[in-house]
Amino acid sequence: MIESKIKSTVRDVNDFPKAGIVFKDITPILKDPQLCMEITKALAEQLKDVGIDVVAGIESRGFLFGPTLAQLLNVPFVPIRKAGKLPYKTVKQSYDLEYGTATIELHEDALIAGQKVLIHDDLLATGGTVVAASKLVMQLGAEVAGYSFIIALDFLNGRVRLAPYNTQIFSLASY
Ligand code: 5GP
Repeated sequence: MIESKIKSTVRDVNDFPKAGIVFKDITPILKDPQLCMEITKALAEQLKDVGIDVVAGIESRGFLFGPTLAQLLNVPFVPIRKAGKLPYKTVKQSYDLEYGTATIELHEDALIAGQKVLIHDDLLATGGTVVAASKLVMQLGAEVAGYSFIIALDFLNGRVRLAPYNTQIFSLASY
């Protein structure tokens, strides 16, 4: 089963990026091409009836599986990046971190008003990043069709934070 394969492959790193955090390191997955293929196909299978026009992936780990997922769904991929990285005109959205704020951006011509957008990232923690990504999508008049993650840390209640935007929240492995 894919969930147990993911869980047995992901590496827990204690005290990263700071003391007390147990970071789920997904890089061991990338060393297993067969598992990468299975993951991308399983993500696409979960989404087949959702109705998606575009996949928006979040820098940087949302760029690992997002483009292949979009190709399997036969829809465009658009990158959501940290401030200052995208070269063309952008819309911006700031959000709170534990200490300070972060800003993410999307090219202003990345989406067309009314498009149904799947937001993809490797992992759902508190949901702050994908809430900000949802606001970027809505700034361009597009709709959030749902969310797709490889891993969801359900004990952090990210799903509750996302529910006002869209309740179609998919993941392959939960903790
Ligand atoms: P959130 O905004 O939901 O609190 O945090 C999710 C974002 O932080 C995602 O972009 C995700 O890549 C990153 N992140 C937070 N914790 C982890 C973790 O334990 N493992 C990985 N791979 N990413 C994490």
